[in-house]
Amino acid sequence: MSRRKQIYEGKAKILYEGPEPGTLIQYFKDDATAFNAQKKATLDGKGVLNNRISEYMMLRLAEIGIPTHFIKRLNMREQLIKRVEIVPLEVICRNVAAGTMSKRLGIEEGERLPRTIVEFCLKRDDLGDPLIAEEHIHAFGWASEAEVDEMIAMTLRINDYMQGLFAGVGIRLVDFKIEFGRLAAGDGHQIILADEISPDSCRLWDWETHKKLDKDRFRRDLGDVTEAYSEVATRLGILKQPTVGGDNIAPFPSRPK
Ligand code: 5GP
Repeated sequence: MSRRKQIYEGKAKILYEGPEPGTLIQYFKDDATAFNAQKKATLDGKGVLNNRISEYMMLRLAEIGIPTHFIKRLNMREQLIKRVEIVPLEVICRNVAAGTMSKRLGIEEGERLPRTIVEFCLKRDDLGDPLIAEEHIHAFGWASEAEVDEMIAMTLRINDYMQGLFAGVGIRLVDFKIEFGRLAAGDGHQIILADEISPDSCRLWDWETHKKLDKDRFRRDLGDVTEAYSEVATRLGILKQPTVGGDNIAPFPSRPK
């Protein structure tokens, strides 16, 4: 691993040059950060769980026709992905009020939204990923109108599918953040789903008890963070039984029941 060329290091992942042109290796770290990296910790086994959960979500989404950057999982912490130019936006999709939406608009956390809402934030750590309007995206050229339309359409399909998938295992998909990339294709490019989908980037609540099974456990000092991630993996059928270290992870992701 040490001889590979590192392309980028983020808060929770590292990207290395891949074995073939147009590929990268995405390595999932155990590091957790919140509030623009003001809060930091290392959570044993988080990277292993996120690698598996993200693999599972990307494979299921590919099955319903969502193009993704995922090629294959290489080992416990790494996956081979397509190299893309990341669109400098975070696309946030919300079904239930929580987090910054509750704070910003004074809506009680847990209130069901009148309809699904898609928001855009600019990917700028130094500015705290500010919420922006579509007007900003077009005016500053961060993405074209066609790309924005495509990202919104894909986000809504992803939301529909994931809401059903999680509901089937007793989990409410409150909200999530995704990122898209531009993949060179012919003379132009194609917009594909990139980055990861994991409890680091989703709010997942137990359907009955509303227990948080996501990164809010870390952000809000609720404890048992990796235990909660491992519960998500177990319910999805990725883990045979809850674990923290990831030792009993099933060799292949099983299909949703
Ligand atoms: P909020 O805007 O309420 O903080 O976040 C909305 C959703 O997007 C949550 O599921 C949250 O985990 C996710 N999210 C927002 N910003 C980020 C980010 O910078 N990184 C990750 N991993 N998830 C984010």
